[in-house]
Amino acid sequence: MAYGFDTLQIHAGARPDPATGARQTPIYQTTAYVFRDADHAAALFNLQEVGYIYSRLTNPTVAVLQERVAALEGGAGAVCCSSGHAAQIMALFPLMGPGKNIVVSTRLYGGSVTQFSQTIRRFGWSATFVDFDDIDAVAAAIDDDTRAIFCESIANPGGYITDLDAVAEVSNNAGLPLIVDNTSATPYLCRPIEHGATLVVHSATKYLTGNGTVTGGVIVDSGTFDWSASGKFPSLSEPEPAYHGLKFHETFGPLAFTFHGIAVGLRDLGMTLNPQAAHYTLMGIETLSLRMERHVENAKIVSQWLEKYEHVAAVTYAGLPSSPYHDRVARICPKGAGGLFTITLKGGYEACVKFVDSLELFSHVANLGDTRSLVIHSASTTHRQLSPEQQEAAGAGPDVVRISIGIENADDLIADLEQALEKAHS
Ligand SMILES: *Cc1c(COP(=O)(O)O)cnc(C)c1O
Repeated sequence: MAYGFDTLQIHAGARPDPATGARQTPIYQTTAYVFRDADHAAALFNLQEVGYIYSRLTNPTVAVLQERVAALEGGAGAVCCSSGHAAQIMALFPLMGPGKNIVVSTRLYGGSVTQFSQTIRRFGWSATFVDFDDIDAVAAAIDDDTRAIFCESIANPGGYITDLDAVAEVSNNAGLPLIVDNTSATPYLCRPIEHGATLVVHSATKYLTGNGTVTGGVIVDSGTFDWSASGKFPSLSEPEPAYHGLKFHETFGPLAFTFHGIAVGLRDLGMTLNPQAAHYTLMGIETLSLRMERHVENAKIVSQWLEKYEHVAAVTYAGLPSSPYHDRVARICPKGAGGLFTITLKGGYEACVKFVDSLELFSHVANLGDTRSLVIHSASTTHRQLSPEQQEAAGAGPDVVRISIGIENADDLIADLEQALEKAHS
């Protein structure tokens, strides 16, 4: 029988510790694992047997988290990484090569815009930025060297909702994998694989852990993409010299991407999640559905209040009936539009700075998805590296403040916002 989400978020991947009976997953704080004998060691190194060798590649605590997130997303397998940004590079690594490109949404986390527009060029990769509400433009941006399509389900910072079904149709027609960053939605609100995503990436730093204690990332593979069909993904379809000519897709089928991510990606790039961090994220995930319900409930109440407030020019929350993305909520994220949105203040840049400085309960930090309510003035911080055009396209102009609604009492959040807005306009 298939368990429901609330059961999986507590149990998937875990079992009582076989050595001690410990009910909670132990933190396996170890670098290496004793081989039974030399033949066992050889079989592990040849990928003929699955097991633990060295914690840069695999660790039992991290493995539970991998299984758990894969189960919650409905994927075949998952690889954990040291951060959300590491997950993005690790997701692209087997697909890309010098001269290859990705087609990405303009509405992304600011750090992702920088990673894709600047840093990946050092590898000879490039990104073409497109407004993903213009589906014809997404299709038109694909060329012979395109190797993936990338977008966020609920996009940071504005809380826009991407029409994943429409984007998946484009990627499908082009024979390309669709990578969806599901950080802001979490699998409780949105399950991108059910809408046609090939890979789902997460910053576990945010809602999955949920309390601002960890930096981590996850890549989930749907297991449904045919890596051998087009000849465009030789890392997965062709012989791998470092494993005696093993072909990952032929050998591991739906787990090809996951095995490659561990056996080549983590082995050689080393962006490994540590077991202590995996433990914190596992603790967070146990209450994911409960927290997300409260984030959504609070975001609805607070956004409705903000929308009516005289000094607020706009509120982007897709959960508001006034949002142009409201119609997509029921189809893409049926349990709610998340806890993240932006407000535009009539007083512009000056008012925004005064507003964030006047808040007492909300913290001004470069983070989101915490139990605590957080704000950030994106234009002077996370989106500072971007040009004014990129800032506008990402929904992070100078008069915009991003709000990550926590799980406190909504009345207390509104009272704090009200006093800070009054100060910002006095
Ligand atoms: C934070 C974030 C990232 C980057 O994750 P890190 O864990 O900070 O590396 C990527 N995408 C989104 C949507 C994020 O919010």
